[in-house]
Amino acid sequence: MNYVMERKRLIERLVMEGVIRSERVKTAMLTVPREEFVLPEYRKYAYVDHPLPILAGQTISAPHMCAMMCEALDLRPGHKVLEVGTGSGYHAALCAEIVAPKDSKVKGHVYTVEIEPELVEFARKNIERTGYADRVTVILGDGSQGLPQYAPYDRILVTAAAPDVPETLIRQLKPNGKLVIPVGMPGYIQFLTLVTKDEEGKVTYENLGGCIFVRLRGKYGWK
Ligand code: SAH
Repeated sequence: MNYVMERKRLIERLVMEGVIRSERVKTAMLTVPREEFVLPEYRKYAYVDHPLPILAGQTISAPHMCAMMCEALDLRPGHKVLEVGTGSGYHAALCAEIVAPKDSKVKGHVYTVEIEPELVEFARKNIERTGYADRVTVILGDGSQGLPQYAPYDRILVTAAAPDVPETLIRQLKPNGKLVIPVGMPGYIQFLTLVTKDEEGKVTYENLGGCIFVRLRGKYGWK
């Protein structure tokens, strides 16, 4: 099985479909090996554009959803990023590839919070094996409350469906910051929401369309 070829083919399709629109996201998607972030028994499906089961009843998102969220965030080298819901660590690695490319002098960083200890361990191993450990910090905790100790962030992504946009996440966003978050009931179609904070701190919301994620737990998640 040639993963590099399969990866290239999938990314070409996502470009053709208009999901991938920037060189940055395209390069990141071509660089991060998704097969290293799925369970061994699912490796052969790593480049099918579909979510896959990981541990603890959770899933790694579909490649098109990761690409869409990265595009919506407009990630740039140097950004400090917070991800809520590490899962496999794949999406965190994608973000790191954009905000802190290997040969770039500008070094951003990705902080990613995961509530399941088993997944913290899984993600850390995946991130170390693929060479992202210096650019991604995996933290065990309730990310629905954000991660105040490293705030404010240039960008925040939430990869689990929330009942609403937690105010605390908006507070942890810098001026000119962006946040993407699926909002809605677990088991139903949710809305991928882009929250933008302008220079003065004024916040606007945009609905980017339907999506399906596992539920956000914790203080500001679903009970
Ligand atoms: N971004 C992941 C996919 C995440 S699936 C990837 O690239 O693989 C959503 C994840 O959010 C699950 O692992 C789930 O355990 C985690 N999660 C749910 N509620 C959370 C919370 N309050 N804080 C941190 N992680 C949470």
